[in-house]
Amino acid sequence: MIKFENVSMEYSNGTAALNNVSLQIDDGEFVFVVGHSGAGKTTLTKLLICEERVSSGRLEVNGFRLDKIRSWKISKLRRTMGVVFQDFKLFEKMTVYENVAFAMRVVGAKPSLIKKRVPFFLDIVGLGHKSDSFPSELSGGEKQRVAFARALVNNPDTIIADEPTGNVDVDLTEGIMELLVKINKLGKTVLVVTHDMNIIEQYKKRVIRIEGGSIVSDRIGGEIAE
Ligand code: ADP
Repeated sequence: MIKFENVSMEYSNGTAALNNVSLQIDDGEFVFVVGHSGAGKTTLTKLLICEERVSSGRLEVNGFRLDKIRSWKISKLRRTMGVVFQDFKLFEKMTVYENVAFAMRVVGAKPSLIKKRVPFFLDIVGLGHKSDSFPSELSGGEKQRVAFARALVNNPDTIIADEPTGNVDVDLTEGIMELLVKINKLGKTVLVVTHDMNIIEQYKKRVIRIEGGSIVSDRIGGEIAE
């Protein structure tokens, strides 16, 4: 569960990025987070993975209290979250298999588990046949699928996707959305940060809209109040 209670966040230069945000996302939900550039979407996701800390208020994420978490616990929190960044952040010198396996190695997973899980998740994202390819040999959509497999492989409770349809052709958007829906059906909470009004309207999911660091609407479906 993700629960913001009166959370504010101010950067060290004095910019108030989030103002008094209260919000609850239950386990297994599928949520879009929308808002114009500078609205506070990235700050919100950075707070969730503890890349930034709240300035005031209470923030609970997957059983961790992030407003008072000790630094040694942050890696444990991050294991409950899989993040797919807009630029994918793949290692160019590693194969598809190695990119995904690496995420398991850094958390100390056993080789036998790695051997089992990596092909399983590559199949889930439809890339089982590209295990030995390098990122430079993949299309944008395929690279993104690798990033999704890597985000999933440690079995996190929550998946965060930052503009997943931002860098791919329109005809790939549907495949990515289907993958996100499939991930949600695996029982994961899915949070999609997006500008893409078409997908919001098409997929009748919860839409949280942020403007100027505040939540201005929170509703199910595609009718976004401008
Ligand atoms: P979005 O992701 O919706 O575009 P951000 O969360 O990146 O919005 O930004 C929210 C506000 O915080 C903006 O006013 C932005 O300029 C400011 N901001 C973002 N990152 C920093 C930073 N590292 N230092 C200072 N201000 C920042």
